[in-house]
Amino acid sequence: DSTHFGFQEVPEDQKASRVGAVFDSVASRYDVMNDLMSAGLHRVWKAFSIAQAAVRPGMKVLDVAGGTADLSREFARRAGPGGEVWLTDINASMLRIGRDRMLDDGLVQPALQCDAEHLPFPDAYFDRVMVAFGLRNMTHKDQALAEMTRVLKPGGKLLVLEFSRVWKPLEPLYDLYSFGVLPWLGKRIAGDPESYRYLAESIRMHPDQETLAQMMRDAGLSRVRFFNMAGGVVALHEGVRL
Ligand code: SAM
Repeated sequence: DSTHFGFQEVPEDQKASRVGAVFDSVASRYDVMNDLMSAGLHRVWKAFSIAQAAVRPGMKVLDVAGGTADLSREFARRAGPGGEVWLTDINASMLRIGRDRMLDDGLVQPALQCDAEHLPFPDAYFDRVMVAFGLRNMTHKDQALAEMTRVLKPGGKLLVLEFSRVWKPLEPLYDLYSFGVLPWLGKRIAGDPESYRYLAESIRMHPDQETLAQMMRDAGLSRVRFFNMAGGVVALHEGVRL
């Protein structure tokens, strides 16, 4: 069994360590690269997802692959002092930046290094679970989806924000951007064209809208639906655990 990485196939058991190396390498430039690569649009996509999550005071929220805590910080503001917002990530460099940014904003919430495929939480603990631009990097996506569903309370909602399949007429332009502009930006700004080539490739390999929706149903979620943004460049999927 092998999984795709960059322009090469790598054994499945090495994917996690390669993903780890990518995020160690980009952590310090991660935020500025996000703004540059998406022309600031990732903020709009995240804002829409945060609104859709509808976190209310007192809720328990899990941010999976939370990285630099863009989502956790907003969730923590909405959940308030009576709520519980867990920032989690498999990568210590990303988690450290995220935790520091939470504290800089005066938000005192737990941060934990863990793998989405083995979440160290009891069943039915969270009101909301969200993963943004993280599922794509996971080796066993079905296992991660099953885990994120397991820790949801009945009536709780899982939200998955991820790159998806673009509208067909936009494909040539998108390819030009991903395999031309993106590695160039990666080289100039982050000094690391390979990590950004990996990004473009991993996006192509990720399940499209309908496939991911079905994977979420298979994981046990109901009322699954998705919203396309920027012509399918990204999609927000959501499902409810009944
Ligand atoms: N959610 C943040 C955001 O939207 O800005 C960060 C997204 S970043 C592109 C992807 C994150 O997924 C990285 O911080 C990486 O360490 C994390 N990640 C990759 N594989 C993971 C896994 N198996 N479990 C948990 N986190 C993982």
